[in-house]
Amino acid sequence: MNPVKNIVVTGGVLSGLGKGIVTCSIGKCLQVRGFKVNVIKIDPYLNIDAGTMNPYIHGEIFVLDDGYEADMDLGNYERFLDLSLSRINNITTGQVYLEVIKRERRGDYLGKCVQIIPHITNEIKSRIRLVERKSRPDVLIIEVGGTVGDIEGLPFLEALRQLALKKGHDNMMFVHVTLVPTLSTTGEQKTKPTQHSVQELRRIGIQPDIIICRSTKPLRKGAREKIALFCNVDIECIFSLPDLDVIYEAPLYLDQQGLGETVLRRLKLEHRKPDWSSWRKIVDGFKNTVDTITVGLCGKYAELKDAYVSLIEALKHAAAYRRVAVDIKLIPSDRIEQGKLSINVLDRFDGVVVPGGFGERGAEGKIEAIRYCRENEKPFLGLCFGFQLAAVEYARNVVKLEGAHSEEIDPNAKHLVVTLLQEQKQLKEKGGTMRLGLHKISIVKGTRLYSIYGREEIYERHRHRYGLNNEYRALLEKHGLVFSAFSEHGEIVEALEIPDHPYFIATQYHPEFISRPGKPEPVFLDFIDTILRLKNASRS
Ligand code: GLN
Repeated sequence: MNPVKNIVVTGGVLSGLGKGIVTCSIGKCLQVRGFKVNVIKIDPYLNIDAGTMNPYIHGEIFVLDDGYEADMDLGNYERFLDLSLSRINNITTGQVYLEVIKRERRGDYLGKCVQIIPHITNEIKSRIRLVERKSRPDVLIIEVGGTVGDIEGLPFLEALRQLALKKGHDNMMFVHVTLVPTLSTTGEQKTKPTQHSVQELRRIGIQPDIIICRSTKPLRKGAREKIALFCNVDIECIFSLPDLDVIYEAPLYLDQQGLGETVLRRLKLEHRKPDWSSWRKIVDGFKNTVDTITVGLCGKYAELKDAYVSLIEALKHAAAYRRVAVDIKLIPSDRIEQGKLSINVLDRFDGVVVPGGFGERGAEGKIEAIRYCRENEKPFLGLCFGFQLAAVEYARNVVKLEGAHSEEIDPNAKHLVVTLLQEQKQLKEKGGTMRLGLHKISIVKGTRLYSIYGREEIYERHRHRYGLNNEYRALLEKHGLVFSAFSEHGEIVEALEIPDHPYFIATQYHPEFISRPGKPEPVFLDFIDTILRLKNASRS
């Protein structure tokens, strides 16, 4: 059996450079040449997973089929590479240490001093091998989170250095992604930060084979030459990745410079011609648009777009599928609630989404936004928390249940329309204990949702602790709210809709997690189609 080839992607200078997009691009360059690819994200933090982290600081928590709460990069891998990943595709320092310490307590290392080298590094390598064994890819790409030089990253880089030695030159390579800033005064592209970060990498014993330079404008010849010389990398192996309007163009952009060929040559992979046709078609949908629509995203994490990345991408996938651009603006729900932002701001948008969320801040603002959409026939899509608040809004303003609320926000409210799920009541620990991942959903025939999916059964990903209180189901239905989907055994309401509204749909599940470019999730596509239909009707 051929050994699985490894490509390690590291980052220099600063974080947030788009290392994830580079990882995806390398993967795509290989996929279009018919190679089977898999990906690992290494996150050198001590958390076991991203589930307990604040999306406001760290970006969205991406949920996998198996319910693992992952770093948002795994969402990018799934979208670009059309893969369905699992928990083994994310390795964190927390997981590695927990395992080693558990073993030490069990007495597995009896008599030995347990150390970072070899015990931690061996555990890291064995986790990488596990992915290779389970999925048997031709190439496994390993992205190391953080920046080279971070203390936390050192054991991982050491493990990868050892792995490279063992695998041999032809089976493993290193790609380093760095920032080349431009001085605003002179317009000069500065290479020193790149030089320093490569020096740091070499100090650890890793010589990058490829350097990918992020910059605002394409990398100039002089800068390229300097980087090649000082970083000891062939000039043909220095690639430029400037800011692009459409991130899905990055693989094409890099392959035009020869990235795919360079990787094949370096890893002694069989030379194959790429077939970019279907990817190009997808990218074309994003680039050559015939119309623009506007969508307001009403949430409390309004300052950080990364907190809603899957949702934003899902809207873009659906819009691009119809060749329209979607201008997404974040509407801070807490400002609506505080009276600092008029609810009429929603008039500016063709449609409104109330996304997932947690806790009190901004919740009343979201409820106001939902009411506005319901009363003004504005297309509205509610997701998870947005679903729960849509039920609260309906109970308050249509059923006239004064004091209706979600238990999460006001446990003493008179009408708890949304309550903690039965299965959650005994739980004490916070990490990985929500209702998570893929669950089967039954759709009620004759509903709008059924017409959207054209099926009675779907599988979608979840991440919640609360749900619609079944004691209020009949009352809400009596007043016109339609529950259009349920969990497998009918105990959890999965979706609601208002029949005589142009588009008022809310789902307890997160459709945004399974949307892919070229394969939009049907709920989003119908949302975009409705908006386009309404727009065209008002034009004619
Ligand atoms: N806070 C809500 C719950 O836990 C909604 C969660 C979400 O929107 N992801 O049920």
